[in-house]
Amino acid sequence: MKQFAVIGLGRFGVSVAATLRAQGHEVLAIDNDEENVQSVQTEELVTQAICLDSTNIHALEELGLQGFDGVILAIGEDLQASILTALNLMELGVKKLIAKATNANHGKILERMNVPQVVFPERDMGKRVAQMMMQSSILESFQLDPRFSVIEMKAPDHVLNRTLAQLNLRVKFGISVVAIKHGGTELAIIPGPDHVISENDLLVIIGDNQGIRHFLQI
Ligand code: ATP
Repeated sequence: MKQFAVIGLGRFGVSVAATLRAQGHEVLAIDNDEENVQSVQTEELVTQAICLDSTNIHALEELGLQGFDGVILAIGEDLQASILTALNLMELGVKKLIAKATNANHGKILERMNVPQVVFPERDMGKRVAQMMMQSSILESFQLDPRFSVIEMKAPDHVLNRTLAQLNLRVKFGISVVAIKHGGTELAIIPGPDHVISENDLLVIIGDNQGIRHFLQI
């Protein structure tokens, strides 16, 4: 069990906090709005919730966040509060810091401050939804960098009842099947060359975007 803190209990912060808690981790939720603190406490979404102003370094210091496995900074709208809190967390030397940015300028500032990981939930979700719309066979996609992605898709007809060796996807398309989900429960991680793809299998594929596109277009 790990120990995490989430600062800012908007929809994003609550979702991160509740997910970590549901996975069995200890979660400390922080917000300067008493109502938000009460709400996550009442719904038992986190281990503990505290009302404080995270721009105040002394208030944060008392929580011993340096000893936590990670801190998620989920303040979005209030740019000043986000930046000051990020500065405080870096000054306190938290181990792993992930900060949410609401737009490109916000992200640029956090990145220039050397915040180790900045995420753009709205932008990234928008891209994923657009991709799902354009490629109805793609169920999930995650861009590793501008060239490479991981996608989850329903096995297309042309690969059914064939082994991975026969398909030779790495050579033909520069893509690899890293996992196959079968029947909703079975999961084959790094399936071997003799693995046969069946109807209704879900494929998790990693590769360069061009290769993935070619594979999808067949
Ligand atoms: P979402 O889109 O996820 O709902 P948001 O981007 O609109 O959220 P904000 O409303 O800016 O996010 O902030 C999230 C939370 O951060 C709010 O509940 C707010 O009360 C809290 N917050 C803002 N400033 C501070 C601060 N200085 N200290 C602690 N919490 C703060």
